[in-house]
Amino acid sequence: MIMQGKKGVVLGIANNKSIAYGIAKACKEQGATMAFTYLNDSLKKRVEPIAKEFGSQDFVYPCDVSNPNDIKTLKESLEKDMGEIDFIVHSIAFAPKDGLIGRFYDIPKSSFNIAMDISVYSLIEVVRELKPLMNSNASILTLTYYGGAKYIPNYNLMGVAKAALEMTTKYLAEDLGRDGIRVNAISAGPIKTLAAAGIGEFRFMLKWNEAHAPLKKNVTTSEVGNSGMYLLSNLSSAVTGEIHYVDCGYNIMGMPATIFDENGKQKIAWNGDN
Ligand code: NAP
Repeated sequence: MIMQGKKGVVLGIANNKSIAYGIAKACKEQGATMAFTYLNDSLKKRVEPIAKEFGSQDFVYPCDVSNPNDIKTLKESLEKDMGEIDFIVHSIAFAPKDGLIGRFYDIPKSSFNIAMDISVYSLIEVVRELKPLMNSNASILTLTYYGGAKYIPNYNLMGVAKAALEMTTKYLAEDLGRDGIRVNAISAGPIKTLAAAGIGEFRFMLKWNEAHAPLKKNVTTSEVGNSGMYLLSNLSSAVTGEIHYVDCGYNIMGMPATIFDENGKQKIAWNGDN
């Protein structure tokens, strides 16, 4: 099995629809042992059954990444319970609602700082704190979205945060490369999760991607999970600093492809109804 003997920590499982759940499932199927974190006590009950499903009921820890003490405590717990680790999944993002709606220039500074702290700086801080536990060929994975590379309606503040996260991935990859540690990001296509529910017109995004992606479908959490497992495994030992698109090919499109109706007649434009 590809992940046999590997130990890792997964931050960002909210439920079994989470992208991190798909990644953890793929890693478990390939023999990995994992620790899981939850944001606060009221969310603990959502994560515990998932940890149990993966045989990790003894490795469940609180961690609000906006609290530096939580990350330090997580390091101590992992050191005590797991020793060294081989991988980290950072699947966390947050932006206040006023950063995901309305005019871009109206974004309050306080919301900007919160989004950057939780969605970007947390990767740097988690990596720095857990580095003493990381094996020399450890692999780190974070999650981004196309809205960090190109304009996407309503993605607003999160787009800027994802752009910063993607560059953070590259700078970390260079910095940790000398230690043999790899850092990559998956840019996933839209998936209906709790976090996605905060993005305006998300259902339209799903329909649009499905209609215009070369594969003519939306990506699933298990497909992102399999690609994530590859990036966390030794199969990708020469891959670092990558923003790897797992989006049914949507990102290659410069313009919607020609759409034909059932009679083979070319349609001029897609209006979202089909
Ligand atoms: P999700 O299931 O809601 O996961 C987001 C996670 O972030 C949740 O577990 C949430 O915890 C956690 N989180 C938020 N603030 C936190 C904090 N201060 N400390 C610790 N954890 C915190 O949604 P998801 O779609 O799988 O999102 C995972 C990642 O994938 C995010 O980075 C997202 O931007 C990215 N992504 C998503 C899509 C998509 O279409 N869904 C596409 C591309 C990339 P609680 O739920 O407990 O608050």
